[in-house]
Amino acid sequence: MALIVQKFGGSSVRDADRIRNVARIITDTYAAGNEVVVVLSAQGDTTDDLIDKAHELNADPSKREMDMLLATGEQISVALCAMAIEKMGFPVVSLNAWQVGISTDSNYSNARIKDISEDRLRAELDRKNIVIVTGFQGVNRFYDITTLGRGGSDTSAVALAARLKADLCQIYTDVDGVYTADPRVVKEAHKLDEITFDEMLELASGGAQVLHNRSVEMAKRFGIQLEVLSSLDPKPGTIVKEVVKKVESTAISGVAKDDNVACISLIHLTDKPGVAYRIFSLLAQKKINVDIILQSIGRDSTKDIAFTVSKDVAEQAMQILEEHREELDFVGMDCDEKVAKLSIVGSGMINNPGIASSMFEALYSVGVNIRMISTSEIKVSVLVDLSDAEIAMNAVHDKFFRAKR
Ligand code: ASP
Ligand code: MG
Repeated sequence: MALIVQKFGGSSVRDADRIRNVARIITDTYAAGNEVVVVLSAQGDTTDDLIDKAHELNADPSKREMDMLLATGEQISVALCAMAIEKMGFPVVSLNAWQVGISTDSNYSNARIKDISEDRLRAELDRKNIVIVTGFQGVNRFYDITTLGRGGSDTSAVALAARLKADLCQIYTDVDGVYTADPRVVKEAHKLDEITFDEMLELASGGAQVLHNRSVEMAKRFGIQLEVLSSLDPKPGTIVKEVVKKVESTAISGVAKDDNVACISLIHLTDKPGVAYRIFSLLAQKKINVDIILQSIGRDSTKDIAFTVSKDVAEQAMQILEEHREELDFVGMDCDEKVAKLSIVGSGMINNPGIASSMFEALYSVGVNIRMISTSEIKVSVLVDLSDAEIAMNAVHDKFFRAKR
């Protein structure tokens, strides 16, 4: 007997038919003799619809009230799924975060899980119940409902798996695994059998929207092996784990594209110590995450600094810098939202020189200009014009994977 945590995303529980389908997967797992804890997302576009509803009444609602609202989506899913399972004649109970005891900090809309109580979960499993838990939500020390950030149900699932020392954590979605690139953009993309936690993290921060980044961090920290698979097409998915044996000879595991990028440039800054420190500490104080940074070589005692942020915080970042224009002493500021970040990721890079140059060659071969470059041990990212992004992605994917298939 194993303890299995299964998470189903919004599209997997979109309507009654899909819920029945999920109920079958769950009850099959249970009937095979396993203890089963299930985490569900809100149905389909429910979370987006709730956000729209909120904005009809208030363009800038408090995060506390937003969490109060958004957490209802997951509660609908768990109750409906429990009813479907009940109807199939299996013992089941649905629980929200409050009933389980999933405690978080008070950072509404992006809360972090601090602790999960095992008591209620254990008691329900001992009663032989299938346990269905709301994803995405927690409770803070004021007994307020919090949420874990968009896509946070993955993190709920991994946290429960870690707490219960589950044997397996399966993340069911509407794709059948992790691909070498988004198959909607790159037709030749293929499914990976295995990928490491670090590669998955880099792919996710590079724009691949398969798993919530924090869920992967947590899985890595607690050594929880994940399986990403489809709820609609029952076949093995992609295993995410610490070390993988490379069956493929390529140094690269995948190519990711992120369109949610804005590039802000500060022009003619005085070339003196402390300027970069001041700019980025102002942004950090407002919790604005900066990604790629480029500083030009100084000339005529001035320099330029450009950096990327996600589109949703670009305006706020500009505003903060504008407020300090005099002190920072720059001549011009510009924000370009028509850009995309393209990243190649692979732990094989460490021992394989020439990976970056192959990527640049692929971009050159289709005439795509590189605006910025950044690298880490297992990733190379470039910033390109948005209009070039898809061609660039295909060219890069082709370069690394075509001969290998
Ligand atoms: N329902 C939430 C969202 O749409 C959480 C999740 O699905 O993981 O972001
Ligand atoms: Mg998701």
